[in-house]
Amino acid sequence: MTFVVRCLDCSHTAPYFPTSVNCPRCNSQWREAEYDYDAISKSLPAQLLGRVFDLWRYRELLPVRNPNPVIMLGEGGTPLIQAVNLGMMLGCPNIYIKDERQGPTASFKDRQAAVTIATLKEAGITEMVAASTGNVAMSYSAYCARAGIKLWAFVTSLVPAVKMREIAIYGSQVVKVTGSYDQAKQVAAEFARQRNLYLDMGARTVTSIEAMKTIAFEIAEQLTSLLGPLSQANGKSRLIWRTPDWYIQSVSGGMGPLGVYKGFSELKKMNFVDRIPAIAAIQSEGCAPMVTAWKNHADIATPVTSPRTHIETLATGDPGRAFTLLSKQVNETKGVFESVSDEEAFRAMHMLAKMEGISAEPAAAVAIAGLFKLVRAGVVKPTDVVVINCTGHTMPTEPFILGDNWARNVVLPARSMEETPQEGLLAALSRVAPDRFPCIALVDDSPDARRLIRRILQSQGNFTIHEAENGKLALNLVEKEHPDLIILDLMMPEMDGFAVLDALKARPETADIPVIVSTAKELTSEEKDRLKGQIQALMQKGDFLSDEFLDEVRTLIG
Ligand SMILES: *Cc1c(COP(=O)(O)O)cnc(C)c1O
Ligand SMILES: [Zn+2]
Repeated sequence: MTFVVRCLDCSHTAPYFPTSVNCPRCNSQWREAEYDYDAISKSLPAQLLGRVFDLWRYRELLPVRNPNPVIMLGEGGTPLIQAVNLGMMLGCPNIYIKDERQGPTASFKDRQAAVTIATLKEAGITEMVAASTGNVAMSYSAYCARAGIKLWAFVTSLVPAVKMREIAIYGSQVVKVTGSYDQAKQVAAEFARQRNLYLDMGARTVTSIEAMKTIAFEIAEQLTSLLGPLSQANGKSRLIWRTPDWYIQSVSGGMGPLGVYKGFSELKKMNFVDRIPAIAAIQSEGCAPMVTAWKNHADIATPVTSPRTHIETLATGDPGRAFTLLSKQVNETKGVFESVSDEEAFRAMHMLAKMEGISAEPAAAVAIAGLFKLVRAGVVKPTDVVVINCTGHTMPTEPFILGDNWARNVVLPARSMEETPQEGLLAALSRVAPDRFPCIALVDDSPDARRLIRRILQSQGNFTIHEAENGKLALNLVEKEHPDLIILDLMMPEMDGFAVLDALKARPETADIPVIVSTAKELTSEEKDRLKGQIQALMQKGDFLSDEFLDEVRTLIG
């Protein structure tokens, strides 16, 4: 691989040595790798055909001289999964999740660790120091174990104990720092200086940005196979891959989006894509120095000295130069910085798990909560193709996330088991769930809409759900089942929702059943008048979130 590192301050280019971290001319630590894009753009398409789908398939664009199978763990090549149910709920059908949980240690830091440790191994490093909010240390530990490098992992005492134990199992020395993450970084740096050990520099390490850019390469390839290649009408035959409209990620130090931006801009230089996506960087409200600075049009972020968030993974209080670089890219791509509260992130975490089968860590859910916010604000448009990085897995789920009562106990009384085992079992099981669940009639002519609402209801409660696909069947159903609640679509062929309502209200037995109208269309003021006093709630399809809907249902069924 022929490449150089170029200084972002003085443009000086120099050969790359993993252990020399300063520009030889101006001493700056902000440098990035630069390749022979023209040559690579010609050779890469053919080379890719024969390669497996992992991070090393782009090795000509990585700063590793000889990718070493001895330290590989199957990094990169994570799936791009369409979020069909979230998409339906939000009214945005093109939402894709880049599932970075599927890395070797369950976060996207595995890319950074795979590439960085590979170069450090090449450079003969045997001992190193890193500060981390948890996941970097976990991932570096796994790769250091394979590479025979001893890692001193400085973490704040707020990092969940399960993560600390995970770091320790790989043989790293965990050093708990009671203080902020920024302070842990200072302590780590001083420790490395005293002992003359290699110190990981986060976003300033050339390899970390290079590793993260493979996310962009993979997204472009995967979107192309999912949605088909871009039309080549403009005659540029090499313009083959797709760029999403948005790349959304939860952000702490900003390494991920900086890398993804570089990835897309390299693809653009090589004419593999036509543009760079809008970048949305989402932070946790209690530690959002970048969001605050960006909204105030400041070039430099004021550090948050004591972060107020439970989401320790995102606790970089002082982003330094990374903000200045990232905000330029965000502005250039017409992207945004946004923040969400811890509560919004926890709710998004539940929604992602219950609607898409994806259990993410709170830090990753911050990006999902950010998506909700951006869709609602109209920043993300219904037709946009959106890729969200699901940056990490929640392993094992922390108790406070689940809250109380997430499990129910079946305790069989010992004596009655001997005498009448069946009875004892039934009595115990009756405490697990009541005999009868609230009954809901779901009336909608669209099977997709019925499936979505059924999924939302079943995800967080116990209901007996009956479906009807038109007005006539709905009235029969109501007569037979006497539901506690009716969820009614308005636009249905033959007998529409208005007619169903009229029929329900005309009969005393059904007049009092609460009704939630869910509709896809903007109602006229006459239509709104017709509904007045007749229904309990009106929900615009694609404009409510599952938990708001459930709150409404629970209030009505009470
Ligand atoms: C590190 C991390 C982030 C933030 O990444 P940056 O791009 O460095 O800001 C987000 N989510 C998870 C799970 C992480 O481990
Ligand atoms: Zn320089």
